[in-house]
Amino acid sequence: MRRKIAAGNWKMNGLRADLAELENLSTDPGVDVLICLPATLIAAARDLPIAIGGQDCHDATNGAHTGDISAPMLVDAGASYVLTGHSERRSDHAETDADIAAKSRAAHDAGLTTIICIGETLAIRAAGTTLDIIDGQLAGSIPDCATADNTIIAYEPVWAIGTGKVPSTEQIAEVHAHIHARLKERFSDGADFGILYGGSVKASNAADIFAVPHVTGALVGGASLTAADFSPIITALAAS
Ligand code: PEP
Repeated sequence: MRRKIAAGNWKMNGLRADLAELENLSTDPGVDVLICLPATLIAAARDLPIAIGGQDCHDATNGAHTGDISAPMLVDAGASYVLTGHSERRSDHAETDADIAAKSRAAHDAGLTTIICIGETLAIRAAGTTLDIIDGQLAGSIPDCATADNTIIAYEPVWAIGTGKVPSTEQIAEVHAHIHARLKERFSDGADFGILYGGSVKASNAADIFAVPHVTGALVGGASLTAADFSPIITALAAS
């Protein structure tokens, strides 16, 4: 059975004092809770009773890549997960599907579980080609070494991230069913991959989103920054 996952993404937010928020998070034996932290906070958070993730990694193990962080470095600091292909990395750093596949492969080699992010822009949604774009991202961003144990997919419509706009549950259902079907076609354990929804998840919409078939959890940005906002989402996932 696929585990339920509540994943937070702090993006470029947080100083060491803010880690106190994570001590007050709700927990539930049926939900895996993890927070993808700025790299500067990972080592300081390693003893907290939740899993820690990075937000990106380089595809090389080490070398002349000033400012970058490798997958083994994330593991050494205390991470067990890493986001790859977040839309802000795709747009701010021009990351391609091939880059994301290479980073994900490096992460798997280091023993990290990847959360590979995909999703359409508003222009793509308006053009009616969302599922075509999703197909391209799935084919290009997921390396062949992916398994249900080392890979989670996060469907995050770009237009829903940080905007307060959320797709209808029908729209989420259509894309999640499509992703599930494509993973089943490509991987022998494709039916077992976790598929998260991400984009303006809040306490007020979490239960409706978690009731959608093939949604196995959430990737949460803004609402993961405080225990008061993130805990009800964890509780809603546990109850789903
Ligand atoms: C994200 O950062 O992946 C995200 C979904 O952000 P938010 O929840 O703030 O929309």
